[in-house]
Amino acid sequence: MEIIHIAAECYPVAKVGGLGDVVGALPKYQKGDGHLVKVIIPGYDTKFINDNKFDCVYNGFVKLANFNFPFSILKESPGQLGFELYLVAIPDLFDRKEVYGYEDDIERFLSFQMATLDWLTSREELPDVINCHDHHTGLIPFMMYNVPKYSKLSSVPTVITIHNSIYQGQFGFDKLYYLQEFDLSKIPLIEWDNRINSLASAIKCASAVSTVSPNYLNEINYSAYGLESLFKQERQKSKGILNGIDFEVWNPATDKMIAKNYSVKNLVKGKQENKKALCAEFNLDETKPLFSFIGRLLEEKGADLLPEVVGQALLENPKGINILILGSGKTSIENELSEIVESFAGNYNVFIGYNEALAHLIYAGSDFLLMPSRVEPCGLNQMYALRYGTIPIVRRTGGLKDTVVDFGDGGNGICHEQASVIDLCDSIGRAVLLFKDTKNTTKIRKLGMCIDHSWENVCLEYIKLYKLIKAKNES
Ligand code: ADP
Repeated sequence: MEIIHIAAECYPVAKVGGLGDVVGALPKYQKGDGHLVKVIIPGYDTKFINDNKFDCVYNGFVKLANFNFPFSILKESPGQLGFELYLVAIPDLFDRKEVYGYEDDIERFLSFQMATLDWLTSREELPDVINCHDHHTGLIPFMMYNVPKYSKLSSVPTVITIHNSIYQGQFGFDKLYYLQEFDLSKIPLIEWDNRINSLASAIKCASAVSTVSPNYLNEINYSAYGLESLFKQERQKSKGILNGIDFEVWNPATDKMIAKNYSVKNLVKGKQENKKALCAEFNLDETKPLFSFIGRLLEEKGADLLPEVVGQALLENPKGINILILGSGKTSIENELSEIVESFAGNYNVFIGYNEALAHLIYAGSDFLLMPSRVEPCGLNQMYALRYGTIPIVRRTGGLKDTVVDFGDGGNGICHEQASVIDLCDSIGRAVLLFKDTKNTTKIRKLGMCIDHSWENVCLEYIKLYKLIKAKNES
């Protein structure tokens, strides 16, 4: 099959979070399975893009209101990623350092989607399936099936994979004229709650909807930031497919970003060496259990609880634990986490920012990983933690519920129900007790390291879904 993934992120080219990890891995394993796989993302000003060679395969213009943006399609020429990577380079809109967060994000991602479709329409051959990811690509199914300019693609089945339903790419009807001409009776296909809603449109128009964990698919039927009834309505074409993790990137035995490689055979010694390096860097005591958090510092991740949790947990376990946080996000949370460093020096530290190598060292060198998320469509951090022998402490939600079972029930982690300071501190208390039982701790770590969350199996589920919608389209 020829499979085309269209997304805003793709590791190692451009990554903000889990979306990047998935789009950098799933296509690689699909290609390994014998398919022809292409990934299309915008051409940002990132290190990978600046350091690598790209060939121009197409030039065009994308019309957005009164502007006519020239764009190029650039193909990564060494082919080092395990799939074909194409960049949509639109100089005024995408040659910027950050992936998101600009005032003109709506204009940027609309032009990206339209330029992509211009190019795909210009090709002679049709792909077997187009897999869109999140709202940045959410209007593609609508445009393929309803905009005459792209009608060549109208027979191609589409999947929208939802990595997060919080972000929906909504905008007012005052920007309707950005879109290419279409029959206005089709407006209900892009409308939700009196606005144009890219994610809602994808859910309505795509041949299939997939979410990144089965439990998240159940949850969004009753909690999806206003889209609940739509998810219920389209349930019959939806499937929850749990993400995998890329063992080529996330493997403590070969990871070049950690201080000492290890496997399940020498995990105690290996983890201790990494912990030593990590604690030295952050002025922490390597003999105490180390609790870490990695992620976007937002309410969605429960990060607003962390400043109080640090104070409370250290009060309950005076000088008995260490806490380390890596993340960036909401300024008020960043500030609160930084301000308390001095008060808890020696037991707590924080790194505000994005640092891929440090994240790897933290997974390797920590004893426990905190994930107090309010919402977690899949969550990759807990799977990386398990792989590195670090015990995840999670709130039972979304994909965390699908992947972490409390050790009290014979499982691989520590679980609680509420995104609250009390619940998280209780879990930390249980972890401190567990940590004293070295034998049991090692047993649980080993259990986690041996779980197979590889992409090979997950990849087959996607292929099954593609085949199903392709057959439906053809019948
Ligand atoms: P989300 O996509 O919602 O942010 P996921 O758990 O699916 O959450 O994926 C998060 C990914 O981003 C992981 O690879 C994690 O290691 C990485 N990550 C998040 N924040 C940082 C950071 N500040 N520095 C390095 N890596 C980070």
